[in-house]
Amino acid sequence: MLSAKISNTTRKAVYRREGYACALCDSPKYLQVHHCIKRSQGGGNSLHNLVCLCADCHAMAHGIILNECGMSQPDVEQAIVEYLADMYAGEWNPWG
Ligand SMILES: [Zn+2]
Ligand SMILES: [Zn+2]
Repeated sequence: MLSAKISNTTRKAVYRREGYACALCDSPKYLQVHHCIKRSQGGGNSLHNLVCLCADCHAMAHGIILNECGMSQPDVEQAIVEYLADMYAGEWNPWG
């Protein structure tokens, strides 16, 4: 199994790109790095595939908790994909 570890350099670069706030709700609390495409589905540890989320949004992205505003897990995943696609518009497509 490949190492799932994200280097500290990459982690910091993701936080910096997002301005040290959650990419979805702008919360600066309990930030974590999330893989847009899961590693089990071929996603890598590149900046194009990583997003900085607060603990709540991260849990939603994994379907662990439901958002009070009624977003489902696929909605959250879609929002993350769109966020990254907008940021790298023209140079990257999440599905290659
Ligand atoms: Zn959030
Ligand atoms: Zn995650």
